[in-house]
Amino acid sequence: MKRILVTGGAGFIGSAVVRHIIEATQDSVMVVDKLTYAGNLESLAVIADNERYSFEQVDICDRAALDRVFAQYRPDVIMHLAAESHVDRSIDGPAAFIETNVVGTYTLLEAARRYWQPLDAEKKQNFRFHHISTDEVYGDLHGTDDLFTETTPYSPSSPYSASKASSDHLVRAWLRTYGLPTIVTNCSNNYGPYHFPEKLIPLVILNAVAGKPLPVYGDGAQVRDWLYVEDHARALYQVVTEGVVGETYNIGGHNERKNIEVVHSICDLLEELAPNKPQGVTKYRDLITYVKDRPGHDMRYAIDAGKIDRELGWRPQETFESGIRKTVSWYLNNETWWRRVQDGSYAGERLGLSD
Ligand code: NAD
Repeated sequence: MKRILVTGGAGFIGSAVVRHIIEATQDSVMVVDKLTYAGNLESLAVIADNERYSFEQVDICDRAALDRVFAQYRPDVIMHLAAESHVDRSIDGPAAFIETNVVGTYTLLEAARRYWQPLDAEKKQNFRFHHISTDEVYGDLHGTDDLFTETTPYSPSSPYSASKASSDHLVRAWLRTYGLPTIVTNCSNNYGPYHFPEKLIPLVILNAVAGKPLPVYGDGAQVRDWLYVEDHARALYQVVTEGVVGETYNIGGHNERKNIEVVHSICDLLEELAPNKPQGVTKYRDLITYVKDRPGHDMRYAIDAGKIDRELGWRPQETFESGIRKTVSWYLNNETWWRRVQDGSYAGERLGLSD
């Protein structure tokens, strides 16, 4: 029974990881999260009463607060997911991305090192610092057959991916220089329940049921490899418990789709699952609106997830068809969750979003 400290546990992937650990294992979790706009404790409501779960509102840039958390909780492992994660926001305002993703990761590494160094030999050896990162650090692929592997050179395009690339390098340097037992995973685009509605898939679902335009960047030909978030949560738990220190594991869904194909799939599912359309809408596909492309937009990402399959026996359980059906159904059945995000009440008064 491990004590797992999860940073960013109130976010989209972090909350899936925490729900997975509490529901599928006997381990304990402490979530450390600043609760930015992307942090939502309502995504943890189903496990919030469990005695193996606890929460601390802490900024990973706050050295003293991190030292206090480490001293009190005494984790066996860390899963580091706290980050600024939205590419468009990084283009409009990169500062927060450098602060949290680079300085925050550095501050967390140092807090972990201060805690880890004096541990007894066995605890020290079994300790893990698992850094969760993105395939966007590799830049983009222009052919149709290439795949990112764990040895693909880094070539980030956006302030977001450059900040994540920096953090990956810091994590590897802390192993090489100080011996801190780190592991890095780089994954493709996640989707699934509890996804903040600024991201493509939830945005399209919620705009469609509201009869609003469905914005598609450029010609919609950009390709992403979609990973169902619960498959990802299983993979991350397997890596932190069975992965080899110093290794990198790429995690992908084997589900390459053009953005426009994703939007078409959602529209077609909504025709079946939400046939009572908003007034004035004949077909959901009629709502598709092409908008000016994002600057520096990467063309294609696709992951070779062969290593984690071969070495840890992980592979995704969901196909894109099964995962997107689950996702659309989840949004149709969980209106309270997303309405409270849309009107700002999920954040109470802390972000000044609600009336
Ligand atoms: P998210 O934006 O949904 O959640 C991020 C969480 O981190 C939020 O709860 C937020 O409150 C918290 N946070 C932000 N700044 C913080 C700080 N300074 N201190 C403490 N907490 C802070 O992100 P996500 O989609 O769940 O992504 C989680 C991780 O996975 C990130 O590191 C991201 O780079 C990586 N990733 C995400 C995707 C994806 O498709 N979502 C793909 C690849 C990699």
